[in-house]
Parts: sequence; C-alpha cells; structure tokens
Amino acid sequence: MLIVQKYGGVSVANCDRIKEVADRVIASKKQGADVVVVLSAMAGETDRLIDLARQVQTRPDPRELDVLLSTGEQITISLFAMAVKERGFEAVSFLGYQVPIETNPVHGRARIHDIPTERLRKVLESGQIPVVAGFQGISSEGEITTLGRGGSDTTAVAVAVVLHADLCEIYTDVDGVYTTDPYICPSARKIDRISYDEMMEMASLGAKVLEIRSVEFAMRYGMPLHVRSSLTDSPGTYVVAEDETMEEVLVSGVTYSRNDARITITKVPDRPGIAASIFNPISEADIVVDMIIQNTRATDLTDMTFTVPEKDYEEAMEIVKKVAREIGAEQIAGDRDIAKVSIVGVGMRDHSGVASKMFDILARHGINILMISTSEIKISCVIEEKYTELAVRALHEGFGLNKETD
Ligand code: ASP
Ligand code: MG
Repeated sequence: MLIVQKYGGVSVANCDRIKEVADRVIASKKQGADVVVVLSAMAGETDRLIDLARQVQTRPDPRELDVLLSTGEQITISLFAMAVKERGFEAVSFLGYQVPIETNPVHGRARIHDIPTERLRKVLESGQIPVVAGFQGISSEGEITTLGRGGSDTTAVAVAVVLHADLCEIYTDVDGVYTTDPYICPSARKIDRISYDEMMEMASLGAKVLEIRSVEFAMRYGMPLHVRSSLTDSPGTYVVAEDETMEEVLVSGVTYSRNDARITITKVPDRPGIAASIFNPISEADIVVDMIIQNTRATDLTDMTFTVPEKDYEEAMEIVKKVAREIGAEQIAGDRDIAKVSIVGVGMRDHSGVASKMFDILARHGINILMISTSEIKISCVIEEKYTELAVRALHEGFGLNKETD
C-alpha cells in the first residue's frame, strides 16, 4: 500500500504542528503503508514572501518571485524531515528540482510535464520517507518555477499518479468537503463521497478545500482523493469516480462566489462579428469571462451582459468602453455588487425540474435573479450580493441538504 499524504499550510504552521504531522506519518508507516509526504509552506508564509517582493519591486519579476516563493516549502520539508529523524525514523527532503518535478517554463503558473520516479523509488525502497516540496518545479532550462497558488495539491496528485499510489490524502484544517460553507449555513453537512465532476464544479464555483487543477488531474488518471483533517482521525470526504448511488442525490452541494462583477452593453448593433469584437480584446487581456447573456431587441439592436472576475473589472471596463465607441454601442453599465449562487449534482443529468425548483426557492425568498447559466451538473444564478447568505441557506434547505436534527 502506497499513500501520498499532502499537508497544507495550517497543518505545518509551526514546529509543534510539524511534529504532530511527523507522528501522524510515522503512525501510517507503522500500520504498514509506504508514505510519500508533500508539504505546503507554513500558513501565511507565501503571502508574506509576496509582500516582501512587492516592497522592493512594484511588479515583482516573475523569475525572481518564483525563486523567492519556493523557499516557503523549503523550510517545511527540511524541518519535517528533521522531526521524523528525531523520532527514530528516516526521511529525505526533496526540493522540486531534486525530484525532479519537471514543468513548462511559465513562471507563477507552471504546469507539470513529467516526474521521473527513480529517486523517490530508491528512497521508498530503502524504507525511508520521501518529503517533497509542493508547489514548485523546474523547467527544461533549469529555472525554478511555481505552479500557482494552492499548487501543492497538484504536486501531491501528480506524485501519486506517477508512483501509482493507492490513494492521495489531502490533509487540511477542515474535516472534509461540505454541502455548503458551514460559516454561512450552520446546518451544512460533511459529504462522505463525491464524484470528480461535482468536486470540480464545486471548486471552480468557490469551494476552497481543493485546488481545482489537482481534481482535474486526479480525474484524468483515476486517482482517488481523500480530503481530511490533520487534527482528527475521523474520515473526511472521498473524491472518486462516479457511481450509481451518487445519481440518486439530486443536488450534492450549494456554492457561492462574491468575486464576480457584471458588465452590460446596451443597444449594440446586431450583426455578425459583434460578439467577437467585444470578447477578443478581453480574452487577449487574459480576463476570463464567465457568463454571457445576449438579448436581441425587436429592432436591429441587441444587449449584451457578461460577468468577469471582480479583480479584472476595471480593466475589462476600459476595454469595453473602447470597443463600444468603435462599434457604436449606446451605453455601458457595470455592477460589482453581485454574487453567484450555484447548485451542483450529477443527479441533475437525469432529472428534470431542478432548475425550476431553484428559481422557485429564490422567488419565495424575494430574491431577484439577474442572470442564469447551466451546465450538465450545475445551475448558477447571479443575484444581488446582499442576498448571498439568504440564498445559500434557502437553497441548502430547499434541496434537502440540511443536517437532520434530533
Ligand atoms: N504555498 C503555496 C500557497 O500558499 C502553495 C500551497 O500551499 O499549496 O499558495
Ligand atoms: Mg490549499
């Protein structure tokens, strides 16, 4: 049995926590499993490093930033290996380039190409515990790269895949994936098993327990994930391939995001090429458009509404203003105070009436729907931001997700 165990920043936040993790890993080993450990930087460390960089350069050089950020994980893996040795067991720490975790050369959001397994296997075969720095890699030019925020999850899954591990455990400070955010909705429940597809939708819609790329990776290679707490021994949530029992549940989770903004362009001339002329420059600016609604008026004019990440709102507005002038659109309006609430569930594929039920629930609570978008296993509604909590709670209850109270 080979298990890859990844511990997040809160689990290795200080020396005491690191020692506790060492105890945990050794316990798994005593039970007979081979373990590979992947670690994040201490909680807050990556943010602290980014802040340092910004103090010396307005827009930190991407190459140098990666050299800097990779130090966060260097601290935890070395300390962890020492803690293991202190307990009479053997561990060897590996920076990204030592494994090596081979990536493309894109600083700040590199993608893993390959992970040769010889070094890790050798260490495993000699009964030692390999400890891999998450989040970092090396390009074919020998440059240090990082995978993007939260990237240690992806390191863990990738290592698990190349080593043909039986399981990849992601240890975090919550005890699993919840039906919705327990801070907003106290009756949220921990989910025992969820499919990769649902987890991916939940992650992209705002559930923060797992980095979305790691789920994509796990799904592609069929690597089972177990998201669980490093503070307890109770099982967390298994993220696995879909099976029939999952389809019996109509809605598995409710998510929300307050990080979008809405832009509306009215009275756009209705002719071929207009959408392209609006959205090409936006995508060239690397701004990801989420929902788009186009409404044709009776005349030869059309209205176009779409959402962008709130952080890109100003830049998107600038671009749209320029395009609007060129194509002769009449008016532009923007709104940052929106939220997107979504319901997710593989059971939706075979059941009708889920969307209308969602609209009903929102209506009964006096919440106006501004935009709607659907996929096979998800329905999202944009609403006024101030109704976020109300909407989440109402949907959670309405779809029968509330904890049973005795
Ligand atoms: N330390 C990195 C971050 O904070 C990577 C990770 O923890 O997954 O984003
Ligand atoms: Mg994380």
